[in-house]
Amino acid sequence: METKQFKAESKRLLDIVINSVYTHREIFLRELISNASDAIDKIYYKALVDESLNFEKDDYYIKISYDKKNKIIKIYDTGIGMTKEELDDNLGVIAKSGSLQFKSENETKDGYDIIGQFGIGFYSAFLVADTVTVISKAFGSDQAYKWESKGIDGYTIEQCEKDSVGTEIILKIKENTEDEKFDEYLDEYKLKGIIKKYSDFIRYPIKMDITKSELKEGSETEYEDYIEEQVVNSMVPIWKKNKNELTNEDYDNFYAEKHYGFDKPLKYIHTSVDGIISYNAILYIPENIPFDFYTKEYERGLELYSNGVLIMNKCADLLPEYFGFVKGIVDSEDLSLNISREMLQHDRQLKFIAKNIKSKIQKELSSLLKNDREKYEKFYNSFGKQLKYGVYSDFGRNKEDLQDLLMFYSSKEKKIVTLDEYISRMPEDQKYIYYASGESNERIEKLPQIEIVLDKGYEVLYFTDDVDEFAIKMLMAYKEKEFKSISSDDLGIDTEENEKSSDTNDEYKELFENMKDILSDKVKYVRASKRLKRHPVCISNEGDLSIEMEKVLQAMPNNQNIKTDKVLEINTNHDVFKALTEAYEKDKDKLKLYAELLYNQALLIEGLTINDPVEFTNNICKLMT
Ligand code: ADP
Repeated sequence: METKQFKAESKRLLDIVINSVYTHREIFLRELISNASDAIDKIYYKALVDESLNFEKDDYYIKISYDKKNKIIKIYDTGIGMTKEELDDNLGVIAKSGSLQFKSENETKDGYDIIGQFGIGFYSAFLVADTVTVISKAFGSDQAYKWESKGIDGYTIEQCEKDSVGTEIILKIKENTEDEKFDEYLDEYKLKGIIKKYSDFIRYPIKMDITKSELKEGSETEYEDYIEEQVVNSMVPIWKKNKNELTNEDYDNFYAEKHYGFDKPLKYIHTSVDGIISYNAILYIPENIPFDFYTKEYERGLELYSNGVLIMNKCADLLPEYFGFVKGIVDSEDLSLNISREMLQHDRQLKFIAKNIKSKIQKELSSLLKNDREKYEKFYNSFGKQLKYGVYSDFGRNKEDLQDLLMFYSSKEKKIVTLDEYISRMPEDQKYIYYASGESNERIEKLPQIEIVLDKGYEVLYFTDDVDEFAIKMLMAYKEKEFKSISSDDLGIDTEENEKSSDTNDEYKELFENMKDILSDKVKYVRASKRLKRHPVCISNEGDLSIEMEKVLQAMPNNQNIKTDKVLEINTNHDVFKALTEAYEKDKDKLKLYAELLYNQALLIEGLTINDPVEFTNNICKLMT
């Protein structure tokens, strides 16, 4: 017999599981049945693709039994089993690595988050048992092994006897405590109820010995008990059931059983398509961003079944990248079982299904936006960024499909609005859809450039995500209205300042050229501003690449040091301008000082870093003394 230690992370998880005051202990059965079903899936698949293997339909089943007197519950399956190494590897280590690191010390304390949100798989056995024994014989092996653990202290593995391939899990149920009655699980009615609740849709029979009674032979009043083995679950997979027979709870339970996400799904989509290619699918939009969504570990994709047999856990080809947050399963009779991953990519049927699924999700999101705004906004706060990536990616191929789903914060409404809503409010003289980019709504609101547009009574959309401007550049226009950055050269707004500025530019040509020389290649021009009202200076850009976009590109790992063409705009109505002209006439050193100060100020307002902060502060001191 070998005695081993759990890996450090598993130990911590076990500690949480054993000591938590978790109210949903009954999920242990769901987790263990789900593992059993996965194990049968594996052998079922083997038998289907290997003709030399002879299996009958009756060979696949799960059996749950209990022994009240000895406080034991057994979960028996005819699945693929585990070798000695697999027992060691699979049960000694927590599979969901990362889920623990993600949670802070505090959150893991009562265990609720971990257990409820991540699902704890096999270790959930310790929610109800103080000793867990696993007897398993792997497919293709002659020797069976017994794995046993009493919790944190480790586990043992030794050889044992077992006739058939498969796994049996034996739970020694905990003693009752003052607060909790663990022996309630040692009850036929209770166990049956838990199976019905969580595992009804498991495709293999879940059997139990059910006690029944019948009239004693020869008697008309006396009954006697007898045992009959019954299949407790309905066995029809949920996606093959009629929608009308299913409740929200059924969908939520399936989501939890599959460990698709945290909490409850925000929305589910159940679709059955009958045609040249038939399939059933259940898709979920999670409420929250999965904790690992923006990490390399996140694998997008849907579970793929061929007529009830699992062929792939995460089929990425079924979902466009921007819908990568969608979870769920697709089952089609028209897919070949033997298809390899490489071939799937080019499979015509699969492409057809993927296309349908994409437009289905799109339609459902549109209807959510129309019919349940609050829910849509919740969705958008979690995954709106993905839609914007969708507009931008693939050379804008999907922009038409996605543009109506976009939302941005509005200066007018002080909340997110759709582009259509924006357009519908546009005054007649307004030519463009205006937007402003920045780090936060608060900062954008204070940008000097925005004043003139807001004063004109126009609505401005605030862009605070890195991807926003890139997506909009791809879109170019919405319903024939072009997008216009508030920092762009020509705002299309007629004002007095506007008309004056070209004269002013001529009048002060030399001053501006002089300032440009001082600032050299930091700016492309210096000129009189058409848009500034109360602020003395700002920076705008010439050409397509905005300052916000420059920031994003500069932050990329192998950036090409791409710079925007910056223009320093001066408010010629501001007192500062008077000081500038005076300095230009009388004191060239002062002009240099002023030009640099104003340039750096403009950078700071824009949220850019200044090259030499020490020099900047020294210059301010110079002014003061
Ligand atoms: P998960 O099921 O999420 O991978 P678990 O902790 O529940 O995590 O199980 C770990 C692994 O142990 C499984 O992936 C599987 O390989 C193996 N396993 C668990 N239960 C069984 C079983 N009844 N039959 C065969 N293998 C099993």
